[in-house]
Amino acid sequence: MNYFESNYFTYKNSDLFCENVNLEEIAQNVGTPVFVYSKKFFTDQFKAFENAFKNINHKIFYASKANYNINVIRLFNQLGAGIDVNSAGEFYRAIKAGVLPKDMIMTGVGKTDEEIKLSLENNVSLIKAESIQEIHQINLLAKEMDKIAPLAIRVNPNVDAATHPYISTGLAENKFGIDETLAMQIFTEANKLTNIKLLGIDMHIGSQITKIQPFVDAISKLVSIVEKLKEVNINLTHIDVGGGLGVKYNDEKTFTVDEFAKAIIPVLSKTKCEIFFEPGRFLTANGGALISKVLYTKENLAKNFLVVDAAMTDLLRPSIYGAYHHIQPLKLKDPKDIIVDVVGPVCESGDFLAKNRNISACEKNDLIAVMSAGAYGMVMASNYNARRKPAEVLVDGDTFRIIRERETFEQQIQNEKIVI
Ligand SMILES: *Cc1c(COP(=O)(O)O)cnc(C)c1O
Repeated sequence: MNYFESNYFTYKNSDLFCENVNLEEIAQNVGTPVFVYSKKFFTDQFKAFENAFKNINHKIFYASKANYNINVIRLFNQLGAGIDVNSAGEFYRAIKAGVLPKDMIMTGVGKTDEEIKLSLENNVSLIKAESIQEIHQINLLAKEMDKIAPLAIRVNPNVDAATHPYISTGLAENKFGIDETLAMQIFTEANKLTNIKLLGIDMHIGSQITKIQPFVDAISKLVSIVEKLKEVNINLTHIDVGGGLGVKYNDEKTFTVDEFAKAIIPVLSKTKCEIFFEPGRFLTANGGALISKVLYTKENLAKNFLVVDAAMTDLLRPSIYGAYHHIQPLKLKDPKDIIVDVVGPVCESGDFLAKNRNISACEKNDLIAVMSAGAYGMVMASNYNARRKPAEVLVDGDTFRIIRERETFEQQIQNEKIVI
């Protein structure tokens, strides 16, 4: 069996621990399925990022869409991160987490008037526009509210991030940003508008990117746009290079944040701009595991199955991206491996957590961990099949706390009314 261990998730006497807490204890106390996060992992990742860029003027905005539990947002904010919010809902969560609007940036390819007004009313530090029409709309709403909108424009640098097509965002064919070829024209037009203060240029070329070169190529393009804008007297104060740093789910060859810094700082230092980052997955993915119980084992003609109590409604990534997550027992006991599909109870053949996976033989009621589930896990959970959204737990050293209770059936129907 191919299993995952780290400084945060380790086997001690064949029991899987998160920091100093036996995961079995959490499963027994909170039930399954449950997401478990390591506070120390989140903290260490953030500090490693900060440290890699300590010699340049920079700010990290945690991309809250990766894991928006209010405790996770609050933790990164306490560590010194700003928060990247992508909707009114994420803004609301960040406020509830205690984040000040001046430490937030508002992103998103389709902001509604409500979201733009919310950003202006509360004085978020930056609104990032993704089209010329949106820039005019922001200007119009700012004028009505007698405000000056702090603005950055997202440019699509047309580089291939070589990641899954659903999470590639920096190619000319993607819906995000303005074309790099139109950048001069659009920045010049935006600069003439009365209620906009043009502050920065922004990119985000995709997610789970495992090579540095696409970043270097894209950043070079942004830097040369910044230089050209200077010639026409448009002086930007920041370059936002987005997020997208890849992490290890299986055997991907990734790069460290220090290697990332070493490669991009020379390109960036040609400008005097402050550098913004928006990491999400890097800060959270390997700090989480989804714990689940084996409901049944079965052998069909063609395959062996483990039917577990977690499903695509808890962790969607395998279903939509064919994503790989290590799956391993909480107790290492049987050295014998079997090849199985790990599937959930949902009525869809797309409901699987792993296919044709070599794992150590499991029995009914055994507990398993789906690793690397700290990013794009709980935030994509749904109620299909009227399944309750799982609980979330934060481990800190030798203690654990529930940071989100398992959803109840009453909560699921609270907005419904009987009218017939
Ligand atoms: C999703 C997203 C991020 C975070 O991406 P990760 O791959 O999780 O680092 C950052 N910025 C923008 C604009 C995004 O859409």
